Order: sequence, then structure tokens, then C-alpha cells
Amino acid sequence: MARYIGPACRLCRREGIKLMLKGIRCETAKCPMERQWRNSPPGMHAWRRRKPSEYGVRLREKQKVKRYYGVLEKQFKLYFAKAERTKGNTGDILLSLLERRLDNAVWKLGFSPSHKAARQAIVHGHIAVNGRRVTVPSYSIKQGDKIGVRASDKSRKFIQAFLGESPPPVQSWLSLDSAQLEGTVAALPTAEDVQIPVETQLIIEMCSR
Ligand code: SF4
Repeated sequence: MARYIGPACRLCRREGIKLMLKGIRCETAKCPMERQWRNSPPGMHAWRRRKPSEYGVRLREKQKVKRYYGVLEKQFKLYFAKAERTKGNTGDILLSLLERRLDNAVWKLGFSPSHKAARQAIVHGHIAVNGRRVTVPSYSIKQGDKIGVRASDKSRKFIQAFLGESPPPVQSWLSLDSAQLEGTVAALPTAEDVQIPVETQLIIEMCSR
């Protein structure tokens, strides 16, 4: 599946929110969003821009979510179509489906510093689900799945380097055994587990047009 390979910080500046796309750098003062003279939208004449239209507001909300999870339009539409088909609140189901992506779970377990790095670790074959290697970043995890690192020394060293000696606590829907480099999906994630503010109603209005 295609992916965005342009400058990451530009995306945060466009959305006006920290999307945490660059791992450790996002936590430091080097983050452009922490610097007043850089946290404006990218491009020249940002100060000239007018108030966004209703369409613009809805578009930005959708783009923010797509960029946070690293999915492009085609894949996002598939997630939205699945959320619409599923019984329940479409917005909440959409966010839950995106949270269930394997690259998101790998990042939230602390096996990688960012979504992008998690995606790379998966594609390079370092990650296993229930003991079997999975190389698809969009793989949808299920309750009870064991997300671990492949048995090879190379994979374990690679992931251990990110996890460090004292990994930070993981979200409540996950549990982590840092000694074994293995996480368990204790429950399926919900819309409350998304770490950026999202107005799902705007996305629904945008995608249902
Ligand atoms: Fe760049 Fe990370 Fe800051 Fe976003 S949060 S602007 S990706 S350093």
C-alpha cells in the first residue's frame, strides 16, 4: 500500500496539532510546533489566509486522522465504508478500526518511537502476532492477540533498543511483558483511546457527501 514520504513536520503544521510522527524529536524543543515562529501552516503567505470554509473545516478533520495513522485516501475510504456497515456509532467504530491497526499497537507498546517506525519494523519482519511473523502494517488485531518480537537476535536487539530499560506504561487496552518483549491485546481499543482530539461528526459529514 502506498504511503506518504514527504516532510512529516509539515503535516503537523498544516493540521495545527502535534501528530507525533517523528518519534523522540516530537518530545523535544526541536519540534517546530514548540517554536512560535514555526508552528504556522506551511507555505508562503500563511498570514493572508482567510477563515476556512465549512468544507475546509471538515476536510482538515479528516486529513488529521489520516495523517496521524499514516493512511491514504483509498484505505481511509475502506475503513469508513466498513465503519458504516458495522452496527453502532460510525465515528467511534471508525476510530476503533484505525486504533486496531498493527502498526498503531506496536507503537503504543513502545516497540518503536513512532507510527512510521512501527510500520517499518513490521514490514522488515521484526514483529510476530501469536508467534507468526506478520508483515502487514494494517493487520487488524483482535482481543487476546499476542504481539511479540521474532525470536531472532537481530529483531530482539532492534526492538529492545527502542523499548529501553524502563518502558513507559502502556494504554489500558494493552498489557506489556517487557522482559519477553511481548504485548497482549487485553481489550479492543475504543474511540477514547485515541490520543489526539477528533470530531468524528465532521469526518462523517465529509465522507458521507
Ligand atoms: Fe515534527 Fe513530531 Fe513536532 Fe510533528 S510533533 S512537528 S512530527 S517533531
